[in-house]
Amino acid sequence: MTTLVGQMGTTDSESHRVNLLGLTKAQMIEWIEGQGLPRYRADQLYQWIYHRRVRRFDEMTNLSKALRLEVAARAEGRGGKLAQRSASQVDDTVKYLFELDDGERVESVLMRDQGRITLCVSSQVGCAQDCQFCATAQLGMKRNMTTGEIVSQVLQVEDEIGARAITNIVFMGMGEPLANYKNTLAALEILSAADGIALAARRITISTSGLVPAIARFNREKLKVGLALSLNATTDDVRDRLIPSNQRYKIAGVLDVCREWAHLTRRRLTVEYVLLRDVNDSRNDARRLSELLRAVPSKVNLIPFNEIPGGQFRRPDDRTVRAFQDELTRAHLVTTVRNTKGDDIAAACGQLRADYENALIQIDAPAMASANPS
Ligand code: SF4
Repeated sequence: MTTLVGQMGTTDSESHRVNLLGLTKAQMIEWIEGQGLPRYRADQLYQWIYHRRVRRFDEMTNLSKALRLEVAARAEGRGGKLAQRSASQVDDTVKYLFELDDGERVESVLMRDQGRITLCVSSQVGCAQDCQFCATAQLGMKRNMTTGEIVSQVLQVEDEIGARAITNIVFMGMGEPLANYKNTLAALEILSAADGIALAARRITISTSGLVPAIARFNREKLKVGLALSLNATTDDVRDRLIPSNQRYKIAGVLDVCREWAHLTRRRLTVEYVLLRDVNDSRNDARRLSELLRAVPSKVNLIPFNEIPGGQFRRPDDRTVRAFQDELTRAHLVTTVRNTKGDDIAAACGQLRADYENALIQIDAPAMASANPS
């Protein structure tokens, strides 16, 4: 048991119970068998926790009462607690703030668009990538989130809006998901497993700043999960400045490994491009972008920058955004401009961390029924 807890990184000095929230099926089996219990009990627990969204052992009715008590004495489900919710006044966007066991805070953003309900989740507390336009980068890197903390964002938002209401999940919140590779992959497994949270893999998207070795590794997993690349520049000079990892992984190499992903999965890469006034928003940039993407099955998502108070970048005007889009469309690239979803709560890829002290509408959320299922 100790090994398992250590592997998940979920030990709690106050608790000697194993944290079941975040265990993959294989890990659940390992723990159950380590308790001297038959393997099918792991299937049952896994289904209760993830598929049926039950977090109290006493509601797991196909376990005998004695077994429920036994498991409750040795295990629990912890993933942080919902501390606050901020609702946009201009659209349906809602931002959730979670407080983790160690007091760190992360955010998720819920967006509704054309019948889709998309939850944007975080994968790290802070981020080491230091993208210059990103509010999360200003936090620096604090730590990886555990698998349980990642998955818990989905379960707790469902508590608010209804089980299975979320139709899509994007890993575009705080952090670079591929830099927290093991926990992100375990979360993907739980989110997409038919007896887990059961969201179709193709409705889940991982967004990366372009870590080539991690994308190559991700390609080898042969998952049906979508991939988004936060590109944001068309020359290495500019990208070196905006995204420091570009100094190691140049645009050509990043696009090569993304092209390989597109071929392996037969899916189109989503290219995220944050438009920054007078930095990467010229017609020449648009032409270079269409040239770069000529051999990469892709679609482009343009994101006019959400200005950060006191920040060095500005948002381009609407005419510039339209001209940029037109140029790409002329080159037959499917291009969308991201609606300014939740602008007033600063929700956008890499720009999630608004000042939650100034949140528009706040609620004190009840603690997740995480704790100590009994
Ligand atoms: S944009 Fe994404 S990868 Fe870059 S610093 Fe922000 S959170 Fe990290």
